Amino acid sequence: KEELNIIQGALELRSKTVEDVLTPLADCFMLASDVVLDFNTMSDMMQSGYTRIPVFENERSNIVDILFVKDLAFVDPDDCSPLKTITQFYKHPLHFVFNDTKLDAMLEEFKKGKSHLAVVQRVNNEGEGDPFYEVMGIVTLEDVIEEIIKSEILDE
Ligand code: ADP
Repeated sequence: KEELNIIQGALELRSKTVEDVLTPLADCFMLASDVVLDFNTMSDMMQSGYTRIPVFENERSNIVDILFVKDLAFVDPDDCSPLKTITQFYKHPLHFVFNDTKLDAMLEEFKKGKSHLAVVQRVNNEGEGDPFYEVMGIVTLEDVIEEIIKSEILDE
């Protein structure tokens, strides 16, 4: 039974897209690029429990960086370092994918190992103005794997 589920999940990777499994922008735990890494900010991050935190400039839809919680290993909250100092030091690459990327292609990308998180964007051509790229949310390797095994992976 379990095996059948997994086989079906694997087959569906070819038809489902990242849009089907993403975490919507509104639900993402993110930081504004101009925050200071004081005690409050750092404890919010630790409490969020996430290992990767998108960093946005001015508005949440404008993701410009990504912070790994492990980047904070040498950061002392008493120093109140600007977040920018840290992100500019590590400069982790940010990956963008389109909403219609199929999950099998996404899995291949993740397997290459550059990053296990991608920012999902779509082309918004509704309305009067010119079309523009709109960020919809984030997708991680875990979201793809959950689609294969068809059940939630509970975090430790
Ligand atoms: P983590 O290693 O931080 O637990 P995972 O890659 O295992 O993250 O993803 C677990 C789930 O949490 C996935 O559904 C993913 O989309 C979501 N997720 C990852 N990072 C964040 C974040 N910063 N804010 C909100 N959701 C996130």
